[in-house]
Amino acid sequence: MRIFMFIILCMYGSCLIAQQPSIIVLGNVQDGGSPHIGCTKKCCVSLFQKPDPERKVAALGIADPARKSSYLIEATPDITSQLRLLKEYSQTINDIPNGIFLTHAHIGHYVGLMYLGKEALNASQIPVYAMPRMKTFLEQNGPWSQLVNLKNIIPQNLQNGVAVTLSNELQIIPFQVPHRDEYSETVGYKIIGPNKKALFIPDIDKWEKWNQDIRQAVAEVDYAFIDATFFDAEEINNRDIKEIPHPFIIETMRLFEAMPASEKRKIYFIHLNHSNPALLKDSPQSKQILKMGFNIARFKDVFKL
Ligand SMILES: [Zn+2]
Ligand SMILES: [Zn+2]
Ligand SMILES: [Zn+2]
Repeated sequence: MRIFMFIILCMYGSCLIAQQPSIIVLGNVQDGGSPHIGCTKKCCVSLFQKPDPERKVAALGIADPARKSSYLIEATPDITSQLRLLKEYSQTINDIPNGIFLTHAHIGHYVGLMYLGKEALNASQIPVYAMPRMKTFLEQNGPWSQLVNLKNIIPQNLQNGVAVTLSNELQIIPFQVPHRDEYSETVGYKIIGPNKKALFIPDIDKWEKWNQDIRQAVAEVDYAFIDATFFDAEEINNRDIKEIPHPFIIETMRLFEAMPASEKRKIYFIHLNHSNPALLKDSPQSKQILKMGFNIARFKDVFKL
């Protein structure tokens, strides 16, 4: 009877439990979140009155239920609820992940670390994986240095292109990408599971600035969560999209236009600005993305590895 109830619950989507190594989308919004500070436009105005609980800053969770392990990619301002969701999904004993992987030092990607300190969780020795500049930035600047000194976090060195082995079934590889690198390098991650691979590039300058071909990078994986900060020129008041250092969704779709449907299908747009109409599931732009064979990463989406 209990098993039957469990199956019924799962069929109706109220059970979200990892059965095998997998990724869960913990957020899909750009650093500033949604509603966005200071925004008086249509995209946010009603959200100030009635926040949408699915609007969380972009992050991925990795669950490894057989080992009762979980990993968080990005420490966002929404880390509190994201870690609870990851715990529930990965069936770990508490909200503390086995490691946190950071991409770079822009607010949506690392400031959630502040909740691990004395004023909040007062965590004990959470491994935080960061590239050399990012690691030094944390170690040498308050308030982050206090987390290091009090051993709330233990910074772990990443190297460009060098895999970190999480278990005999899971590996994660950082790779450097071009972006505004004021305080740190910026990396994307390749996540390698027992059966499937995923790419995560939440922030990058135009694809042509990268020393790799995104089409080739997508060809080597099964899922690709990639920078979709802006949709098109209309969203930015018809400014020249060439001036904005992100690949616009329409630019990425054009780049993949001639690729087979099986390649387009791997792409899940993530890191959407508050102004991006693709944040709304039923907007014409969301429908256009799906119609053209691409996908949008949505809160609580799950991907088997
Ligand atoms: Zn960002
Ligand atoms: Zn807005
Ligand atoms: Zn950034």
